[in-house]
Formats: sequence, structure tokens, C-alpha cells
Amino acid sequence: MIPYGRQDIQDDDIEQVIAVLKSDFITQGPMIPKFEKAVANYCSAEFALAINSATSALHIACLSLGLGDGDLLWTVPNTFVASANCALYCGARVDFVDIDPQTYNISIAALEEKLQLSKQQDCLPKVLVVVHFSGQSCDMLSIHRLAKQYGFSVIEDASHAIGGYYLDNLIGGCQYSDITVFSFHPVKIITSGEGGMVMTNCPDLHGKMQLLRSHGITRDEQLLTENQGGWYYEQQILGFNYRMTDIQAALGLSQLARIDEYIEQRHKKAQVYSQAFSNLPIITPYQAPDTYSSYHLYVIRLEQQFTDKKRKIFDFLRINGVGVNCHYIPVHLQPYYRQLGFRCGDFPQAENYYKQAITIPLYPTMTRSQQMTVIDVVQQSLNCC
Ligand SMILES: *Cc1c(COP(=O)(O)O)cnc(C)c1O
Repeated sequence: MIPYGRQDIQDDDIEQVIAVLKSDFITQGPMIPKFEKAVANYCSAEFALAINSATSALHIACLSLGLGDGDLLWTVPNTFVASANCALYCGARVDFVDIDPQTYNISIAALEEKLQLSKQQDCLPKVLVVVHFSGQSCDMLSIHRLAKQYGFSVIEDASHAIGGYYLDNLIGGCQYSDITVFSFHPVKIITSGEGGMVMTNCPDLHGKMQLLRSHGITRDEQLLTENQGGWYYEQQILGFNYRMTDIQAALGLSQLARIDEYIEQRHKKAQVYSQAFSNLPIITPYQAPDTYSSYHLYVIRLEQQFTDKKRKIFDFLRINGVGVNCHYIPVHLQPYYRQLGFRCGDFPQAENYYKQAITIPLYPTMTRSQQMTVIDVVQQSLNCC
């Protein structure tokens, strides 16, 4: 089966990991700050903190922005559940904003409309989590303008999007947001096994997230309320153990050296697909002019007349060795979220998109012959189903 995504681990990566295993520190050592500095430099952000996953990163990002009981977080339905769950971890409530049918990212029109209505009803969100779906940036200028106008904070869930650009800037520089979150899960652009990172330009948010990452404990003399001796530390808030290991950071750092190469490979392969599918009843990914996608995912959308056949086509692809997937089942339709009151029909664009979307394999080391197989089987599936 050709998977929809997979990691690329080279000898260099393995050597770097082994070097850490043989060193004095396998966690809380020097590789963490090295990896953080490298990612901060790469994205031109002031601060970066390595975290054990993007899910944990989203949690402490929300907490650092003060999200809590009675607050509201908005995100999109077309995302992984973690983008919404982070609100519930904080005791806040979740609501969704529908997607744009062209980019599959948050619809600015829907956002604006919902903000106007919520202002009248006095239930504005405290935090908005926008998701750069498949690695293509959301319309951050509009989001930033609305954030200022209505007074909410913005987290970019850039789990798909490290290495992608918005305007002239790499995603992660937080020019138009408070915090950006990356994931280094093995199917994402670069991997540390499990892992994530939070990016920010705000010293205060950086300080809070640093505390939250490690039990709320500090040894920083500037922050201690007193000093009882060399052993002394203070737990100042309730935090977690969301630390990344040095083993993981070594892998991530080694991978980062190849990120631009990876994204170039992804673009080349995406172009081959888009060309091959141009005459098929398939909608290929639209690329907005202000963006350069990291192409984490290549999603094909079946044209309307094939909507009823998605399941058959999907099964046909899998049976014939193409490891397709679907990103995403609208979060509000998950049983857990339905039980919170969400219903079919609440976010029609995300639901309609879901009925047509199939993620086909795309990763840097996919061979030409593997890609030709995928193209061939996709064509067959439309003829046979
Ligand atoms: C993968 C992913 C996450 C979660 O990342 P982990 O590092 O596995 O916790 C969150 N949001 C989106 C959009 C993702 O794709």
C-alpha cells in the first residue's frame, strides 16, 4: 500500500539521534534550545518552545492567552479534533466557523458575519484557532484586522504548514497572530517522532508557556519570589509535563536541514498530479495567490455527480494499493461534539466538502512509479465506480 504520507529518515538523522543517546542528557539537555533557536531563526519568530506534541502545544497556547471557564474558542470544522479539544481542556466552550469552499480554510465572510451577530448577542470568542489546511495559509491580513476590531486572540494551527509562506513571510513568524503551533508527527512536513512547537513574538506569552510546559516550575532567579539556596525552585502556577526529549529534538533539528528540499519535492509531485487530473471530473487544490503551500496534503474533490460514490471510489483505491485517507470528518459531527449539541447542517460548506474529499498519497520520497500508480488507479476508480 502506498501510504498517504510518510517520514523520510536518513543516516544523518540516525547519527544525530545516536549521538544524543550516547551523551550526558537524553532530555532537558542542549538539543532542545538548539532546535528551538533553529526553528525560531527559520521562521523569523522571537521565541520558540519545543513541546511533546502539537496537541499539548495548543493546550498551553490557549491557557497562556487566558482561556478558561465561561470563555469561547472558535475554530473550523475542517480540522483535526485537537484544534477544538484544546478549548475544552481549559474549561472553555467551542464553536465553529464554516470554511471557504475554494481554499478549505476558514471563510472570512462567515467569520465576519458570525462576529457581527455574536457582538450583538454579547458572546464574542476570546480565542480563534485558524488552521492552515494542507499547508496553505489562511487569509491572515483579514483575520488580523477582525481580531483587532473585535478583540480576540489568534492561534495559528500550522500543524500542516511549517515551510509554507504567507505573502513574503514563512508561516510561524506570527506577524498576524499571537501564537503559531507546529506538529512534528511523522506524517507532517518534518518529524521528531512525536512533537510540536509553539512560536510567538510576545515575551509574556513565551514566559507563561515555558512555565506551563514544565509543571509551572521555574528556577529563573529573575522570577523567583525568594531564594532559599542553590537547590531552590518554585511552582508558581499549575503546569504539565509537556516537554520534548533531546532525542526527539536531535531528530527534528536534523530534519529541519532538509525542509526546503522536502517542500520543493512536494510541490513538484503536486504539479504532476494537478496536470494529470486536469481532464478528470476532479477538483484539484486551489492555490491562493498570497500563499506558498507546504503541501502537507494533496486532496482531490470529486465533482458533484460522484458524491454518492465516494465510498466506492475510496474502497477501490485502497483495494488497489493506494493508501487514501480523508481530511477531515467535520469535527462538529464527531459523536462527542454532537453530544455537545452540534448537528448535521450546522456548517454546510465543511460538510459538503467532506462528502467529496479524498486525500491521495504525497510525500517527498514517493517515487515516480508510485505516483504513476496512484494516477492510474485514480483514473480507473472513476471509470469503474
Ligand atoms: C496533526 C495535527 C494536530 C495534532 O498534532 P500532534 O502533534 O499529533 O498532537 C493538530 N492540528 C492539526 C490540524 C493537525 O493536523
